[in-house]
Amino acid sequence: MRPPSVDSLARSISDIDLPPPLLVDAARTAISNGKPGSAREEAVKLRRTLLGPAINATGVLLHTNLGRAPFAYSQPAKATNLEFDLDTGARGSRNHHVANLICRLTGAEAAVVVNNCSAAVTLVLAALARDRAVAVSRGELVEIGGGFRVPDVMAESGARLVEVGTTNRTRLDDYRAAHQVHEAALLLKVHPSNYRISGFTEETPVKSLATLGVPVVVDLGSGLIDEACFWLREGRPPWLGEEPAVKQTLEAGADLVTFSCDKLFGGPQSGVIAGRSDLVEACVNHPLMRAVRPGALVLNALQQTALAYLRRDGDAVPFWRMAQTPVSELLSRAEALSVGRTVHTMAITGGGSLPGEQIPSAGVEIGGDISRLLRDADTPVIARVRDNATIIDLRTVDPSDDSLVADAIASSI
Ligand SMILES: *Cc1c(COP(=O)(O)O)cnc(C)c1O
Repeated sequence: MRPPSVDSLARSISDIDLPPPLLVDAARTAISNGKPGSAREEAVKLRRTLLGPAINATGVLLHTNLGRAPFAYSQPAKATNLEFDLDTGARGSRNHHVANLICRLTGAEAAVVVNNCSAAVTLVLAALARDRAVAVSRGELVEIGGGFRVPDVMAESGARLVEVGTTNRTRLDDYRAAHQVHEAALLLKVHPSNYRISGFTEETPVKSLATLGVPVVVDLGSGLIDEACFWLREGRPPWLGEEPAVKQTLEAGADLVTFSCDKLFGGPQSGVIAGRSDLVEACVNHPLMRAVRPGALVLNALQQTALAYLRRDGDAVPFWRMAQTPVSELLSRAEALSVGRTVHTMAITGGGSLPGEQIPSAGVEIGGDISRLLRDADTPVIARVRDNATIIDLRTVDPSDDSLVADAIASSI
């Protein structure tokens, strides 16, 4: 029998939600593999390479590979006042809408939004310290997943790294001495987001650094807005540990802070530079700004998040809603799944934030490793495997996905 033509094979799987050229690709692959009957399988495989929803059952709230902070967002196909001043009718700035809200939230004089925190740090260094020295503690020359290494970022931005102090202890006098020799343009303090140095340690607080008369830049990373967590009815949760916040870091004397918006801020991927207006202005006017500026989609989503904070509505920020769900509620949801064994678990914030801090959680445990089968579900469920058991942690699952999780488990066991 002659193999079917590529076109007729592609037409036979047209119920799969892919445009015809991609169905043709799948049909062609199946035929060239000598298995025309696998065209449907190939098309489904192809579909699964597209960006799409996944259920995060890992217990890692800000899972970088699963898109960090989840949030709902919609935007009509309409023009916006992105760079239009409604008052004067003249050109406006895309940097005013949400940046103003961030200032309101953090007490910063000025702020600018860029594509991520790496871009924020790079822009600050390029705009304020090109060809000049930047003093960083040896304890803070960190790598934050995905290749963000402080010494490399420094080199790329044209600033000269001056290492200060030792790995475990760096004192104000070390910074002072470095500044006297190298005339530092900036003192950069980097929050060691994803690891912790303990034991015989000493770091210099922002408040002391601010006395040296050199602009202090603090790369906070995680973007906790305010120590008090005023958007939570229960106030600051214990699992935040000593995590520093933007508002208080600025109050302590930082001239600029940088942070990610898709970590503890719970918004879309973007980054912020906030602080002294002359320094923010220098960043905004730097030629790199155009290369790292976000589009209206991101700014709009970020604005929704910022407005939720201002309404003190932590529940409207999915990251905080998930992080704050009582364990009792997670236990009832686990029972209601009616599959596997209900277990207590420990969730973490992840995304290179709060190392060592755990959030009590709950979920279900299934004997054996069924992670592959769960990933194969129509809406893939991503779970954790430990000691030959699969753990589905419900803290990171939106309750509206519970039935999908139950179905995926039921068809995997
Ligand atoms: C996460 C992090 C970064 C990188 O942020 P992205 O938004 O992922 O680019 C930089 N610095 C610190 C301290 C971080 O925690």
